[in-house]
Amino acid sequence: MSRAGGAKSAPEASTGQHISKAGAASRVTRADHWVDDGQLRPREAPMILMYHGVAEVAEDPNLLCVSPRRFAEQMDWLERRGLRGVGISALVEAMRAGRQRGLVGITFDDGYLSVLEAALPQLKRRGFGATAYIISDRLGRTNEWDEGPSWPLMTASQVRELAAAGIEIGSHAATHMRLAGASPEQLKAEVSASRTSLAAVLGTEIRGFAYPYGSMDAAARRAVRDAGYEYACAVEASPAEIGLMALPRMYVGQQDDVVRMTAKRLLYRGRIALRGRRP
Ligand SMILES: [Zn+2]
Repeated sequence: MSRAGGAKSAPEASTGQHISKAGAASRVTRADHWVDDGQLRPREAPMILMYHGVAEVAEDPNLLCVSPRRFAEQMDWLERRGLRGVGISALVEAMRAGRQRGLVGITFDDGYLSVLEAALPQLKRRGFGATAYIISDRLGRTNEWDEGPSWPLMTASQVRELAAAGIEIGSHAATHMRLAGASPEQLKAEVSASRTSLAAVLGTEIRGFAYPYGSMDAAARRAVRDAGYEYACAVEASPAEIGLMALPRMYVGQQDDVVRMTAKRLLYRGRIALRGRRP
């Protein structure tokens, strides 16, 4: 455990400002206040990596894929720092128990077949977990919502295979539409119905959600909570939004070699801290 425990010094001290505003009482309950209200102070947001496909592709205008080699390099980078990749349900459980130190969330959006084929072996080799967010109405189809190359999505049985290998399956909505501004009917179909239908595919509860395009608003966050999800991943989230229904994530792409990963990690922590200081 080298870097994983490095969150003690100066940046950590800055949360003191936050606490002092709320009074001494909150200092005592600081570790678990969010269990009740689901809100997280920006500084408490865990590091969660966001991937899509893991494949060697000729054309990738939306920067959605990392090559298997690059992915292995990035997983090695985590390992060398004493960090362990985990799925988000496991991460949230660890946070509840105050054991999140050294854990990094790993997520894959959209449900590309390449996650099963290329990412899973790398995760397994290291004993890492992860979460894959699946679009319930697009099983066995392709990323037809994207402009650009078409890649296969996992079928129902492939999603079950991924789950059987220990990867958490979450919902990425029913059709991959933007949820900010969606009507109540759309939210119901995308958020609630996708949970039911993925639960039927897997025969287990679906605990997590990831907003397509990271697009969400208060109504979407409420819909996710009301549908029974325990948490949801966003991409960017404002300090007021950060919480169990909007966990921010760090995009990781093909360009992210070990030097960039190190810089991004520092920047990510720094940016979250800066956002936290804004009124
Ligand atoms: Zn997506």
